[in-house]
Formats: sequence, structure tokens, C-alpha cells
Amino acid sequence: MSRSKKVLVIGGGAAGLMAAIHAAWDGADAVIFEKNSQPARKLLITGKGRCNVTNNCDIDTVIRNVPTNPRFLYSALNRFAPEDTMDFFESLGVKLKTERGNRVFPASDNARDIVDALVKCAEKAGCVIYEKNIKSLIIKDGIICGVKDANGVEYLGYSVIIACGGASYPKTGSDGYGYVLARQAGHTITRIKPSLVPLVAHEGYCAKMMGLSLKNVKIDVLDTNQNKVVYTDFGELIFTHFGLSGPIILSASSHMTEPERCQYKIMIDLKPALTTEQLNTRLLRDFSEYKNRDFINSLDKLLPQKLIPVIVELSRISPHKKCNEITRAERRKFIGLLKAFPVTIRGFRPITDAIVTSGGVNVREIDAKTMESKLVSGLYFAGEVMDVDAYTGGFNLQIAFSTGVVAGESAAY
Ligand SMILES: Cc1cc2nc3c(=O)[nH]c(=O)nc-3n(C[C@H](O)[C@H](O)[C@H](O)COP(=O)(O)OP(=O)(O)OC[C@H]3O[C@@H](n4cnc5c(N)ncnc54)[C@H](O)[C@@H]3O)c2cc1C
Repeated sequence: MSRSKKVLVIGGGAAGLMAAIHAAWDGADAVIFEKNSQPARKLLITGKGRCNVTNNCDIDTVIRNVPTNPRFLYSALNRFAPEDTMDFFESLGVKLKTERGNRVFPASDNARDIVDALVKCAEKAGCVIYEKNIKSLIIKDGIICGVKDANGVEYLGYSVIIACGGASYPKTGSDGYGYVLARQAGHTITRIKPSLVPLVAHEGYCAKMMGLSLKNVKIDVLDTNQNKVVYTDFGELIFTHFGLSGPIILSASSHMTEPERCQYKIMIDLKPALTTEQLNTRLLRDFSEYKNRDFINSLDKLLPQKLIPVIVELSRISPHKKCNEITRAERRKFIGLLKAFPVTIRGFRPITDAIVTSGGVNVREIDAKTMESKLVSGLYFAGEVMDVDAYTGGFNLQIAFSTGVVAGESAAY
């Protein structure tokens, strides 16, 4: 196929690489501008360095895991579904495996394999990667003509794809500049918020337990204004100097709006495998075994060390009360704490600490079938720069890949 059309892709992340590959496969000259010396820096740190590359599920399940503008993604997901992502990487020689929650990872547990496969595929397809920081778009009479880099050098092209990512983890390169470029084209940017982000706690006791990771706990997120549980999850959380982090906390954060109002309480069930009655039996047994011990010295088998002084203080039972003096009411109250350890949420950590950015280029100004701007002809968007974001599970990368494929193919058309 003749290579007459030049497609300029701003950003060499998951979406940009996928867009460039598909533009090149469809016969375009694809050029990627990446401001870092290496592309896909964020991809390297995904999934704690293992890269949860997609979710082994159907399109409707992806859609259910997208809280913001899910319907906008139908077309892109129909064109490039999770199974296409898996086929794509396996065809490049990356063996994949599916874990709990249908999360797909490279069998090697190494995100580097995903990055290398993408970059090699782009090079093989004929894409050129330039280390350039793009500062503005060249638009004439409502038609895109090219881009300009930080030194004022102009690059002309037939179409341009903005794939600059969001505003989270700016050290990886996604510092929100995609929004500046989109605004230059007349686009509106919806409110930018952190999502999948650690939570700041009101109580100081989280800091006392800093570093403590609880692997099998259940959480209920209580909206105290509505007196309603808005989210429940089971898995791992970590206490930090500011509050709470870990997988189930990040997921919980995307179910909270304006936590600064302190209306959310996270109730941690420290012993989800035991009923209240089973816990009562267990405590009765422990207290009878340690009947002459101080209360605070009787909990070693039940709880991690860092948690004991905190929960004892919250129980208001004197730490030096002998076990055989603890009353039934005190024991019941203590069981209540084991089943619902309370942490009041004061807010999100800043967007720089968020896994994804919620908000971005208004999708009402983008054609969902092509990812083309409705305002500037020949301008396209792909990935997190748009106002779409998902829960954890590989869905955010799937969005980057699906929208990247559609943008790349449409830009080359
Ligand atoms: C710690 C962490 C773990 C994550 N783990 C997962 C996971 O396991 N699974 C999952 O699905 N999602 C995960 N995500 C989310 C996922 O990484 C992002 O949603 C996805 O990378 C977005 O892809 P993107 O291409 O739109 O943006 P990015 O991957 O951020 O790529 C944007 C690229 O554009 C470049 N760029 C920006 N501005 C310019 C400019 N002006 N000129 C030139 N280049 C520019 C940047 O340097 C960057 O390389 C994780 C995110 C983080 C932070």
C-alpha cells in the first residue's frame, strides 16, 4: 500500500503506540512524538510492574466497569475487544495468563514484555518515534495541518492524534499537557479529578499502623449522609502515614464523590471469615486461656502487632485489665470493632498519586465511531486524555488500546 498519508501521534504510551501501529498497518506514515527518551514509561509500572494488560471478559462487562461515559466506548470496544488485545499480544509472542477477577497479565509477570512487544511492533510496522515535546497544534480553517515542538520546529501531517494521557503520575510523562493541546483546538475539558487513588483518613491512628498490610479483609464504604453502604469489597488494604491505600481502597475511591465533605466512613471487617458468634466463642476461649494476662497481651494470635494498641484504645477497655475481668458488654463492643473497624475519609490523595485521571476532553465533542474531533477536521483523540476512566482490572489499558486502534485506523483513512 502506498504511504502517502502522514499521521502524527502525540504521546508514545499505550494508546499512542497502538494508534500508530494501526495507522501504519492501514498504509499511513506514522510518526510518534514522545517527550521521554523511552516510550511507554507508565506502562512499565502498571500492575506493580506486572501489567494487567486487559480483562478476559466480554464488552458488556468492560462497559459495566466504566463509571464515566461508558456508552461512548461501545463502538471502539466492538472494533477492538479484550479478546483482540489478547490475540494481539499473543501474536507478537507474549504469552498471557488470566488470574483472579479475569485479570490478564504477561505469563512472565513482567510489564517490560508488553512494552517491548508494542515498541518492536511499531518499529516493524514502519512507525518512527521521535523524542519531542509537542507544544502546540497547527490548525488552519478548522483543519489540522501539523504540530510544533518545544523548539518551535513544525511537523506537517494529514492527521494528528492526541494520546498524551491524563494528569496522574506526571513523572511518567502524562502531566496534563494533552488538555492544553485540546483546548487550543477549542475543546472543553471536564473537571479533572483523581480516580483509583489512596484515601486520606481523618483519624491519626492509621499513621500509627503505617506499613501494615491486611490481605484478607472486607470493607464497606458507608455514605453517612444517606446512611447507605455504597461499595463493598474484599481483599488487601494498607495503612499509610496519611490513611489507607492498597487495591480495595483504590477501587473504593472511584465510588466516592467529594470525600472532602467527610461523609464517607470505611468500615473494615478484620475477620470476614468469622461470624459475630464465632468471634465471641474464639474470644471466650482466648480470654479463658489467658485469664490472668492483661487484655493488651492477649490478642497476639488474633491480630497483627501494629493493630493491637490501636484497637485496644478504640475499645476503651483498659489495656491492663485482666482477661477474666472483661465484661460481656466489653467483649461485644470489641467484637463490633473487629467486624467494623472505622476509618473516616477526609479526602483523596492528590491527582499525582492517582492511578487514573477522571475527567478530560469532553466526549460529546468527539465522534465515538472514529475518535475524530467534531471541532477540528483531522484531529483525533485516544486513551486517558479523554473523559473516560474505569475501575481496576485491566479496563483502563483496554480503553487505551481500543480507542488507540480506532483513532489510528480512522486517522489513516
Ligand atoms: C501505577 C499505575 C499502575 C497502573 N496499572 C494499570 C494496570 O495494571 N492495568 C490497567 O488497565 N491500567 C493501569 N493503569 C492505568 C493505565 O496505565 C493508563 O490508563 C494508560 O497508561 C493510559 O494510556 P495513555 O496512552 O492514554 O496514556 P499514557 O500511558 O500516560 O501515555 C501518554 C504518553 O504521552 C506522552 N506525552 C504527554 N504529553 C506529551 C507531549 N506534549 N509531547 C510528547 N509526548 C507527550 C507521555 O510522556 C506518555 O508517554 C495504571 C496506572 C498507574 C499510574
